[in-house]
Amino acid sequence: MARPWPAGLALSALLGQSRAQLEAWAVDQGLPAFRGRQLHDWLYAKGARRWHDITVLPAALRDQEPAPLGRSAELHRSVARDGTTKLLLATDDGLSLETVGIPTRDRLTVCVSSQVGCPMACRFCATGKEGLQRSLQAHEIVDQVLTVREVMDRRPSHVVFMGMGEPLLNSENVLAAIDCLSRDLGMAMRQITVSTVGVPNTLPRLAELALERLGRCQFTLAVSLHAPDQDLREELIPTARAYPYEQLLEDCRHYLELSGRRVSFEYILLGGLNDSPRQAEALAEKVRGFQSHVNLIPYNPIEEEAFQRPAPGQVEAFAATLKRRGVAVSVRASRGLDQDAACGQLRRQRQDRVQG
Ligand code: SAH
Repeated sequence: MARPWPAGLALSALLGQSRAQLEAWAVDQGLPAFRGRQLHDWLYAKGARRWHDITVLPAALRDQEPAPLGRSAELHRSVARDGTTKLLLATDDGLSLETVGIPTRDRLTVCVSSQVGCPMACRFCATGKEGLQRSLQAHEIVDQVLTVREVMDRRPSHVVFMGMGEPLLNSENVLAAIDCLSRDLGMAMRQITVSTVGVPNTLPRLAELALERLGRCQFTLAVSLHAPDQDLREELIPTARAYPYEQLLEDCRHYLELSGRRVSFEYILLGGLNDSPRQAEALAEKVRGFQSHVNLIPYNPIEEEAFQRPAPGQVEAFAATLKRRGVAVSVRASRGLDQDAACGQLRRQRQDRVQG
């Protein structure tokens, strides 16, 4: 059955399409439907990059290349000592985006971008320094997961939308990508996390759209809070001016009601700015009653800003205060710091080299 995506969302590439859609596409081309099934197998299970890779197809069809497959080209790769692999990928229209594979013994997490650049301009974020170029299409998100699988020669277990961009400004394509990752690549939707800094009027809508389009809303939503109060939040996240803290939390509650899934919170720790025990108390007060989980992220320094990493002991003290107040906490380990530090930096460094 064809998916009920709005007509405006052009299926411009074959990647991202379901088996039924690929069958329909084949029939449309005057081919037998089984060619669509073959395409599905080669695109997803075998990870074909070019028509010529798909050796089960007739040579004439491969030569003709009747539609873009939708795979990116790799521009640059950097591998850190811990195996974290950052890739700079090129889109069809010549833009570049970052994607990262983060391995542990029993997980391979792919950190995907949802946009090229980002319009949110959070002060501590490298991606936000150059504004938005465009949102990614669903197949360009799926391609990142396939590319990491190929480069690292391992099946990704988790996907986090924590690369470049604000996913809730591109909800349709993000949901279509999640649909494809679970339907066509067989990933568990529960292992997928969408991270947002909060865009007014989009949070409950995301759950509604997921239920409408995907029939379920089982991915995890992570909301980047980064401050215990509205004033400091606005200082760090200028777009928060349009989104009062209480309204954001109210929308999280509404999201939870609709999806049945707990929301988790992210909190970047900036030394001397938002990392005091008093601020931990205030944060605990804010997220009380959510039975939620707070993920603490020590700041990764970026060139453009003079923020500090938290002093030794501050992270543990902040976490301990939250725990004492009954809030579940985890601390995100910095991965791949020896290479390119924070997300968005690889791309900026490469651009500097190209330009300068
Ligand atoms: N726009 C979304 C997703 C992309 S950012 C969001 O804001 O949630 C993913 C996470 O990385 C966010 O929690 C963000 O605050 C964090 N982040 C951005 N820049 C960072 C930096 N320099 N150091 C540490 N974490 C950073």
